[in-house]
Amino acid sequence: MKKLAAGVERIGQFPRPMVNVYLAEDVLIDAGTTWYRWRITRQIKGRKVSMLALTHVHPDHQGMARDICRDRDIPLACHADDVDAMEGRVPVSSEQIPNPIVRALQKSWEGPPHKVSRVLAEGDEVAGFRVIHAPGHARGEVIFFREDDRVAICGDVIRNMSYATTLAGVQEPPDFFTYDPVENRRSIRKLADLNPSLILPGHGPEVTDIAGFEKFVESLPAD
Ligand SMILES: [Zn+2]
Repeated sequence: MKKLAAGVERIGQFPRPMVNVYLAEDVLIDAGTTWYRWRITRQIKGRKVSMLALTHVHPDHQGMARDICRDRDIPLACHADDVDAMEGRVPVSSEQIPNPIVRALQKSWEGPPHKVSRVLAEGDEVAGFRVIHAPGHARGEVIFFREDDRVAICGDVIRNMSYATTLAGVQEPPDFFTYDPVENRRSIRKLADLNPSLILPGHGPEVTDIAGFEKFVESLPAD
């Protein structure tokens, strides 16, 4: 686990953070893919975890959700707009472009449905973070934002990783994973308007170069 801010750690990955799982106080944020089984369970062993909260219900964030909640006997939380996907009433990532290669990969990452016992809405509080609805990449995408030190855990609103090289660099999520890139750009601007001091994305390392992030936001096409 790597400490990133007061009470916030990220699951260790080798050689670099690619699919992120955070522990914020005693709330686990996101659940990786099913390939992350041992990586997650080993690292949270002996740690107090009282809830699992998802930034959004895509296969690389909900992969281990059911197993972690079952093994640790903890509730699962996600935004209202992703509950149907998490509970199996609609397919996970149903709105993504039906590319057969992407589909096959995602299927191998995806975890089984599980009951959402805490439904999140705008303004709710999770581990001292405020829930901010930020759709575009997923219907139920949320940012967890802590006012005190302006730390933002932003899911896939942005990524700090190239999927081609896995090297760091702030980018929009790929269009083929995003049902409405224009809406997601509005969510990116929402993230920028929070004036974050540290951004913890779903993919890639922490974003500490906030001036660089702001430049990236300015470079985005207007709606
Ligand atoms: Zn993702």
